[in-house]
Amino acid sequence: MQNIMEIFGENVFNDSVMQERLPKKVYSQLKKTIQEGKELDAAMADVIAHEMKEWAIEKGATHYSHWFQPLTGATAEKHDAFLSAPKENGKVLMEFSGKELIKGEPDASSFPSGGLRATFEARGYTAWDCTSPAFVKKDKKGATLYIPTAFCSYKGEALDQKTPLLRSMEAVNKQALRLIRLFGNTTSTRVTPSVGAEQEYFIIDRDKYLKRKDLIFTGRTLFGAMPPKGQELDDHYFGVIRERIMDFMRDVNEELWKLGVSAKTQHNEVAPGQHELAPIYAQCNVAADHNQLVMETLKSVAYKHNLQCLLHEKPFAGVNGSGKHNNWSLTTDDGINLLDPGKTPHENVQFLLVLTCILKAVDRHAALLRESAADVGNDHRLGANEAPPAIISVYLGEQLEDVLRQLISTGEATHSMHGEKLRTGVKTLPDFTKDATDRNRTSPFAFTGNKFEFRMVGSRDSIASPNVVLNTIAAEAFCEACDELEKAENFHEAVHDLIKKYASEHYRIVFNGNGYSEEWVEEARRRGLPNISSMVEAIPYLTSEETVALFEKFHVMTKAELESRQEIKYESYAKAINIEARAMIDIASKQILPVAIQYATSLARSVNEVKTACGAADTSVQEEMLVELSGLLKDTKEALKRLKQVTEEAACRPQGRERAVYFKTEVDTAMEQLRRPVDRLEMIVDKDMWPMPSYGDLLFEV
Ligand code: ADP
Ligand code: MG
Repeated sequence: MQNIMEIFGENVFNDSVMQERLPKKVYSQLKKTIQEGKELDAAMADVIAHEMKEWAIEKGATHYSHWFQPLTGATAEKHDAFLSAPKENGKVLMEFSGKELIKGEPDASSFPSGGLRATFEARGYTAWDCTSPAFVKKDKKGATLYIPTAFCSYKGEALDQKTPLLRSMEAVNKQALRLIRLFGNTTSTRVTPSVGAEQEYFIIDRDKYLKRKDLIFTGRTLFGAMPPKGQELDDHYFGVIRERIMDFMRDVNEELWKLGVSAKTQHNEVAPGQHELAPIYAQCNVAADHNQLVMETLKSVAYKHNLQCLLHEKPFAGVNGSGKHNNWSLTTDDGINLLDPGKTPHENVQFLLVLTCILKAVDRHAALLRESAADVGNDHRLGANEAPPAIISVYLGEQLEDVLRQLISTGEATHSMHGEKLRTGVKTLPDFTKDATDRNRTSPFAFTGNKFEFRMVGSRDSIASPNVVLNTIAAEAFCEACDELEKAENFHEAVHDLIKKYASEHYRIVFNGNGYSEEWVEEARRRGLPNISSMVEAIPYLTSEETVALFEKFHVMTKAELESRQEIKYESYAKAINIEARAMIDIASKQILPVAIQYATSLARSVNEVKTACGAADTSVQEEMLVELSGLLKDTKEALKRLKQVTEEAACRPQGRERAVYFKTEVDTAMEQLRRPVDRLEMIVDKDMWPMPSYGDLLFEV
């Protein structure tokens, strides 16, 4: 293993490479574009493209690719060789122009546009996002230069995750700057959302994976009885990392470090076979790109180790699912974190305003925030007693809750609770000051020291959508606060009143208790907080009047763009369930029923053979098993028939909401009904005959 410092960022066209290779003038103009959003002129782009190409060729690159995140849930890349048209002498040059760097034109008609674009208007453009550094990805025989881009239609409508994300960063920058100016900050020139995404995933053996058609087609097990041991002993979380997994993690880290992704933390997660990786936080759009690289790298390195990485939110029923914890804060270019309460938060008026603005934003747009984490797979996870409930609430912790209570009751906060010394009663252990606040693992939106941690996000999803929402709702709240405060005669009085007002009006969103409990569901209902249990129920909030007004006001998305996203979401929901249903039908018909019948036959044969050999012998065991088996076979056959019917019927429903709802209410239910008898069959059929590895094999034998 090489030294981290030597390899970190070695395949990234980062600031030091640019500084070294670009002419001074070009470098400083590019920096201005990156840092201040100034436009880049075309001549400069040519110089940058040339240097980027030379650098990439030295790393073995033959191709470049505009890399983007269309609304398919995956990343997209089309590779072009650095190649000029052959000259008269038949020779070619390795070329890459500024135009090719800044603009690409993939044949866009095959990407989902949700009706934004008819297929005859297929033009789509990728535009260079120079704020996220380009990088070289090596493969066995060569390498490719990747250029992070945004993807838009001919008319400039967003067709991807990146465009609205960049727009939302602009929005929150503008409003947060207004806010800090009110507090006398004249030096910071930019406020950027910082994001650190903790990624959960499962690792299983690839040979076993290849024997599971459900995992191959859908990413999750559609059948599977619980193993004798699950996660009840709590012995996996932070457990010793096994050698095979450690080898894998080392390779993952090395690949990521080379790509400039600061993979920092790794550990075993709660479920057997489950792990987590967290990078050090980065600027929001870079973090979103890096998270895509993390997911890709986990998969590709696993493959090399004959392992399979499962990123689905709920690959196994009955054990924990996987999510992503989206840690979010706002930082100025000169390093001030607006969410840092300091030692005495009650005196930190700017912090209290920022905090109460965020409470207001989250309370007002709870449904939209919930929607931003809605995904087919996440429906199985949220509210499943392991992941945050589907109800959005904010955890502040004792210290801040106490400050807010003081504010609400007396209009003034006079003190902050302090962390006490941690005393273990053992002299040789060091005493240290505890944080003023304990953690709460059950909250979907928790304040954790100097950042908010949004824990609803699904493990497969891009983190772009939740951050678009977080940035924009924060921008709106800051904007409204500034509108009031900028015209106030007495700023200090006005800001005081505003903090108190926000805290009182939105205190209902604060919940410090156990988010997994039944009582909370009841309490949340009393408080009037939305409890949106599924993706299909969440989708309409994308185009509610409030959402449209919010996104249009801050130029993050237009009504048409939102409607297109809504359409894509309904469609992708219906398609995903359709694939799951068809995979189930396939597996049940071709693998499960034949095997169960074969086993039934062997039992029947045994009865006959034993009887023939010894008429007096007792065959009641075989006979009882045969009766049970026949009953389950019948239940399976009936459930299968029903699933086929509703899946066919679903295809006849009009596309969009109606079809998605049908899949949710009818097909999903029929799938559950088929799973039940099959999982019971698995418990009685001879293990050697069962056509696929069991949960026990998958989760414990890596
Ligand atoms: P945990 O929440 O599990 O205790 P950490 O607090 O170390 O773990 O952080 C988890 C993630 O949050 C990491 O990716 C880390 O880089 C990120 N993070 C830490 N501070 C901030 C911050 N101010 N803004 C955004 N992300 C942060
Ligand atoms: Mg965390």
